[in-house]
Amino acid sequence: MLESPLLPVHGGYWNGAWQRHDGPTFPVVDPADGAVLAELPRMGAAQARAAVDSAARAPVPTLEERARMLSAIAGALREHTEELARIIVAENGKPLVQARGEVAYAAAFYETAIPQLERLRPHTLAERPRDHTWQVVARPAGIAGLITPWNFPIAMLAKKLSGAIGAGCPSVVKPSEETPLTCLAFFTLLDALELPPGLVNLVYGDAPAIGEVLCADPRVAVISFTGSTRVGRLLAAQCAPQLTRLSLELGGNAPFVVFADADLDRAVDQLLANKFRNSGQTCVCANRVLVEEPVADELVERLKGRLARLRVGPGGETDVDVGPMINAAGVAKVHHMVVDALSKGATLELGEVPDPGSAFVKPALLTGLTPAMACAQDEIFGPVVAVQTFSDEAEAIALADDTIYGLAAYVFTADLARAERVAAALHFGHVGLNTATGPTPEAPFGGMRQSGLGREGGAEGLFEFVELQTLPRWEG
Ligand code: ADP
Repeated sequence: MLESPLLPVHGGYWNGAWQRHDGPTFPVVDPADGAVLAELPRMGAAQARAAVDSAARAPVPTLEERARMLSAIAGALREHTEELARIIVAENGKPLVQARGEVAYAAAFYETAIPQLERLRPHTLAERPRDHTWQVVARPAGIAGLITPWNFPIAMLAKKLSGAIGAGCPSVVKPSEETPLTCLAFFTLLDALELPPGLVNLVYGDAPAIGEVLCADPRVAVISFTGSTRVGRLLAAQCAPQLTRLSLELGGNAPFVVFADADLDRAVDQLLANKFRNSGQTCVCANRVLVEEPVADELVERLKGRLARLRVGPGGETDVDVGPMINAAGVAKVHHMVVDALSKGATLELGEVPDPGSAFVKPALLTGLTPAMACAQDEIFGPVVAVQTFSDEAEAIALADDTIYGLAAYVFTADLARAERVAAALHFGHVGLNTATGPTPEAPFGGMRQSGLGREGGAEGLFEFVELQTLPRWEG
C-alpha cells in the first residue's frame, strides 16, 4: 500500500468535501512490480450525478477570483512537487526526473492561464451595426466534464482544469483508473485551498458509466477528453443527442522526417528525447521515422549506439531512462506491433521481441517499415523506433501524411524554406521544425483529422470553456 500525507482519504469529492463510498473496490497497482498501492471505491453513475449536482450549485467566480485560484493551485503544486512526483512514479512508472518535470509542467498551465484572463473581459465592437452598441461577453460555458488518461496524471488534468477554472466553469474530474492516486493527492491540495464548494469535483471507478452520465446530462456543457480515438468517438456519439461541446485530444501517429541535409546529431538527440519519454507512451512520440535514403544507414548506426545505452528499470531507481509499460495490455500491444512488423519484412536491428510476461520492454530498433505494418498505422506506445526510407520531398510528404491521425509531426532539414513547405502540406496540429519538442502551456495544442477537436493551452485553451454572448444595446 502506498502511504502519503497527500492521500488521507480514498473517496470521491463533491459539495466541497470528501465523500466516502462503501461497496466494490478496484486495485491500483505499481506497474514496475504489480504491488497493490491502494484499493479504491468503484464509483459509478449515482456518484457521477451527485458530482454534477454539486457542480451545478457552484457560484460563478469573478476574473479576479479565478486568477487567485489559478495562482494558489500552481503554488500548491510547486510546493508539493516531491510528494506528487513520488506518487506519479508509483502508479505510472515513469522515471522520477520525468515525474518532477511533469508537476512543474502542470503548474505552468495554471500560471500561464492567468494573463490570458484579460482576453475574457467584455469588449465593445468598434462599429455600431444598425445603430446599436454591441458588447461581446465571455460567459462560462457551464459544467465541464474532464476525463484524463494515465500517461501524464497531473499534467493532462492541468491542461483542462486551468482552462475550465479560467473560464469560470465548475468541473467534474474523472481520472484514469490506472493512475487515480495522483489526482486524489491533487484534490487533497485543492481541498486545503478552500475553493468555492462545487467548483471542483472528483469521481472515478466505472469509467463507461460515469462517462455516460457526463455526456448525457444536459447541465454538462463541455466534455474535455484526452485518450484513445476509440473512446473519443464513443464520447462524441454519446454527446451528439444533446450537442454537448467536445474538446478531444486523441491518438497520434507522429512522423519524424529526416532529410539528407539535416543536422543528424541534433535529429538523433531530439528523437531520443521525444521517443523515450514516458517509455514511449505519449501521443506526441515519434511513431514513424522517415529518413532520406542517402543518410539512412548513418542514422540507423547512430541510433543503434544510442539506444543500446538506454537504461531500463523501475522509475524510482536512479539513472533509469525507460520505466515499465503501464500494464499488460500495453506490453501486449507493443509485442503485437513488433511481431507484425517482422512478419511483414521488417528487420530488428537492436533489442528483442518484447516478452509479454514482463512489464519492461527493451528499446528496440526496426528498419524496413512499410505502411502496411500495424506500427505504421497506429501508435506503438512503447520504446520501439521504426524506420522507413524515402527518396524525395514529395514522397516524404505523402508518407508522413498517410494516416487518419494528425497530432504531431517533426521535420529535420537545413533548408528552412523546405521545412515550412513540408509543414504546410501536412495535416498535423503541431509540426516541429528541427525540434521534437512537445506542447507548451503558452501555445494552443491539438489535433487535426481523427486526433481530435479543439485546442489546449494558450488563450485558445480557455475559449474551449467559454460561450460568447452578444449584447446589442439600443440607447435611443
Ligand atoms: P488509454 O488506452 O490510453 O487508456 P482510454 O481512452 O481507454 O485510453 O482512457 C482514457 C480515459 O478515458 C481514462 O480516464 C478512461 O477511464 C476513460 N474511459 C475509458 N472508457 C471510457 C468510456 N466508455 N466512457 C468514458 N470514459 C472512458
